[in-house]
Amino acid sequence: MSSKIIEIDKQITVRDLAKKLDVPVISLITQLMKSGVMATVNESIDFDTAQIVVGELDEEIELKAAEKTKTQKVKRKPSDKAVTRPPVVAVMGHVDHGKTSLLDAIRGADQAEHEAGGITQHISSYQITFNDQKITMLDTPGHEAFAALREHGAKLTDVAIIVIAADDGIKPQTEEALRFAQQAGVKLIIAINKSDKAGANPNLVKQQLSDKKLLVEEWGGDTIAVEVSAKTGEGIDKLLEMVLLVAEVEELKADERGLAEGLIIEAHMEKGRGSVATALVEHGRLDKGEFMVAGGAYAKIRTLQDTNGQDILHAGPSTPVIVTGFKKLPHFGDMFRVVRNEKQARKLAEEFAQNQSESGSNAGMTGSDLIAKIDKTNLQSQLNVILKADVQGSLTSLVDSLDSLERDEVQAKVVGSGIGDISENDISLASTSEAIIYGFNVGVPVNVKQTAVRDGVDIRMYKVIYELLDDITAELTKRLTPDIVESDVGRLLIKGVFRTTKTEVICGGEVSKGKITPGLIAKIYRGDELLAEAEVVSVKKEQAEVKEVKAGEMCGVQLKTDGKLMVQEGDKLELISRETVQRKL
Ligand code: GDP
Repeated sequence: MSSKIIEIDKQITVRDLAKKLDVPVISLITQLMKSGVMATVNESIDFDTAQIVVGELDEEIELKAAEKTKTQKVKRKPSDKAVTRPPVVAVMGHVDHGKTSLLDAIRGADQAEHEAGGITQHISSYQITFNDQKITMLDTPGHEAFAALREHGAKLTDVAIIVIAADDGIKPQTEEALRFAQQAGVKLIIAINKSDKAGANPNLVKQQLSDKKLLVEEWGGDTIAVEVSAKTGEGIDKLLEMVLLVAEVEELKADERGLAEGLIIEAHMEKGRGSVATALVEHGRLDKGEFMVAGGAYAKIRTLQDTNGQDILHAGPSTPVIVTGFKKLPHFGDMFRVVRNEKQARKLAEEFAQNQSESGSNAGMTGSDLIAKIDKTNLQSQLNVILKADVQGSLTSLVDSLDSLERDEVQAKVVGSGIGDISENDISLASTSEAIIYGFNVGVPVNVKQTAVRDGVDIRMYKVIYELLDDITAELTKRLTPDIVESDVGRLLIKGVFRTTKTEVICGGEVSKGKITPGLIAKIYRGDELLAEAEVVSVKKEQAEVKEVKAGEMCGVQLKTDGKLMVQEGDKLELISRETVQRKL
């Protein structure tokens, strides 16, 4: 028995699958139902589900997962020939605790000789040499560092330096940073900063860390904490030694041969240079003149520079480089890969763009947006919230009440919470996690409000707890999949078929019951067998387009189908309207 192999993506809509299988959508939906999957035409099912259903439907068809044309891919394991690579380090922590200052101080500790004329502008990553070893720093404090860690996780970063000001201690955003870093599985190094300040109290920070089960080494634990001052430079060497030590223990390795792959960490247009992208090579060797694809963009690498602005010919693993030559700007978070020739580069970029536009609303999104979106669709039923309240008591009761709103299908997840006014960090976190911020009896400083507007973050303020909870209930309700209600509207007996094209059927007949109006859905029956569904585009009576035809009248009907449909005389149309009705929580 010869079987037919059909390639599909990891996710496919019911409509597209039916098209690929060349079966009526309705047969597929029915088969899905039999297998316990309720999916409408436009909903996506995953590869495994598709495989099961197709197996039931036609055992001669074999499904195969299409090779991913997207450049996103799982990080690959280094081979036996892999060599030690520099660690990639991100700096995170509460606002004003000194992330930017620390990044500057670390850059100042670079012991490598640089030729004059390097770039001075802010760049998103840099590499230093310290004790003859290289360290790659992601120079993306604040929001982007969070985003990078959250969205690209361990893929991008090996070590997170969590900055805590010794005169301020652990703050809500320090906690977030700790949580993100731990979730991403990266190694932590605590930099207790501002130790030069009069009010500095490093021991308090260590105490707070131990309360979070992060006992520092000098107290018998295994959390690395270094007292530093980004201002005086005190302790920076020790911090970098710790980074190298952690890297050594981790045995970070990557292949330095083969076509390079990595991540785009920044891209912008520059006068005279065109598109300028900063890319981090994860493995392989990136050479000037090669073809590079990142998302829907590709380049023949015109210039290749290190992050000091020096021209280089090639770059190896964990190296940030500045690349020009992209015809259109890639996005932060896009994976890049090198391919052998321009034809392949163009093809991959076009396929990526095609994939994006096929998934509709994804068009124009960045890789990171996409990842976030995928995260979200997996948890479409999850509402992320950040709760800020005036006192601990109200915060606790809000969090407790949220638990009671949880249903099997939907739930609210508190991704951040705290006491006090809404801050810039809340906005960053909300923007990264696509959360709504709820404030209870707290304020929003004007600058924070502006950032929220700029980043499109939704802040909702309440003074009455149950009103706040009502709002969350309404949001959760929106996330419940609506019920689909069908009503029977009419019947038509087909007496003639005038035209059949790939997507259209024009036929005529007599309305035997009810009425026909444009916009209805026609279920097409041959005898008792349901052949397909189609949409009524227009209805004609004696050559003129009309809004309605009633029982007993003759009419012409134009149907839109999503695959070629062979309607014939004697078939019957059952006309229905289909509405979605919002359910209640
Ligand atoms: P960020 O918001 O975490 O990036 O923090 P910044 O690096 O912008 O620092 C916030 C403020 O703290 C600035 O006024 C810095 O000058 C100051 N600062 C940062 N590090 C130190 C330090 O080690 N000692 C002292 N005294 N001030 C510091």
